[in-house]
Amino acid sequence: MMPCPNERTLIRLVDQALSLDETERLTEHVSVCAVCRQQDNALRTLIADVRVDGEVELNVEAHVRSVVSRLYVRDTSDVDERVA
Ligand SMILES: [Zn+2]
Repeated sequence: MMPCPNERTLIRLVDQALSLDETERLTEHVSVCAVCRQQDNALRTLIADVRVDGEVELNVEAHVRSVVSRLYVRDTSDVDERVA
């Protein structure tokens, strides 16, 4: 099995920005990898939300990255807020 794609690649997959070859390889990986499938589902939900808003379509990747990074650092920022 190929190694897990990084987050940027998964975003491009969900955003249909990859070549047909890459899309096929990654789709196959996501279908057999629970970790990537979970992330793929989360990204699809986030991007669907962005698309509903419409005007930020060009910034899908930036938006998703900011949301994802907030999810990842949530514990730390909670601590920071309490300290501040
Ligand atoms: Zn994976």
